[in-house]
Amino acid sequence: MRLLDAILDANTRAADGKAPPIASEQFAAALPLVALSCIDARLNRFIPEVLGVPESHFIWLRNAGNIITGPMSSTLRSLALACAVKGGKEILIVGHSDCLVRKTSTLDLLGKFAALGVERARMPENLQEYFGLFASERQNVLKAVEHVRASPLIGPRVPVHGVLLDIATGKLELLVNGYQVLEAATSAAPTASVSVTAAMPSVSSVQLAAAKDNQSIGEMQLPQFRIGDAMQHVQSTLREMSPAATSTKPAVPPPVPADAIPNLKRLVDLSRHYRVIGGDGKQYGPVPASVLLRWIADGRADAETPVQVDGSGVWVKLAQLGDALRQHRRK
Ligand SMILES: [Zn+2]
Repeated sequence: MRLLDAILDANTRAADGKAPPIASEQFAAALPLVALSCIDARLNRFIPEVLGVPESHFIWLRNAGNIITGPMSSTLRSLALACAVKGGKEILIVGHSDCLVRKTSTLDLLGKFAALGVERARMPENLQEYFGLFASERQNVLKAVEHVRASPLIGPRVPVHGVLLDIATGKLELLVNGYQVLEAATSAAPTASVSVTAAMPSVSSVQLAAAKDNQSIGEMQLPQFRIGDAMQHVQSTLREMSPAATSTKPAVPPPVPADAIPNLKRLVDLSRHYRVIGGDGKQYGPVPASVLLRWIADGRADAETPVQVDGSGVWVKLAQLGDALRQHRRK
């Protein structure tokens, strides 16, 4: 039995928020566990007791909504140091039901900040993106796991799990089994360069493993923005298309041979939107095809650039975009 299985097993036997403690000496190779949860105070009585992990082997990170905004974000910096400096062996993203962040729209947020005297003009333009607001607790955990798995700051052999905690009962629901993701990544390793294989195949394997655990594919394909935020999304897309916008573009990658550019452009389906990870490790998009084409023409995206057909949840290298589009259409 591995650590995650022991945690789930202890959790099924938990009563009143307390699980029988797991035998930590049996899991020395998997402890301490690094967990990220929401700041919701209702979690205080459950964590870590309901996981069965002794406090001395438990590194607890919290932020509002257990949100990770990208593979190089500040929360990932802390997760990376928790592993590198504090010796964390496995990572667990703990989402929870009835999350107030999920229930807060951009409009709600504006009202609440206004009541606090925070000036709208001094806040980031795209609040939904900045605060990482989400519409589904499950989707949010899957996305967080993906970002951790894709992060170059996290060792490729560190298992990254995802669970959802019922805020009323403390019962856990398994969303991502990090061991399965690692196995899937190993068996599906492509013949690409090392730097890309370390990050790329595991992202799609998170989806594969989640799908194996009977997660709804339909839910995973929900747009990342709320319907009410559609106008803001359109506005941010327009900003990205405007020639004046430079801050939202990926950093310039190494130059591509000129004859490769028309071939890359031919791979782009004009009816789709795309997400891209820039040379700075940040995620950009979703942007319309026209913007991706311009990035290719400008040499800002090349054959090695990680790209995702928006809604597919699968990262591939730009050179493999044709295959990714065909697979996405088949679904
Ligand atoms: Zn919450």
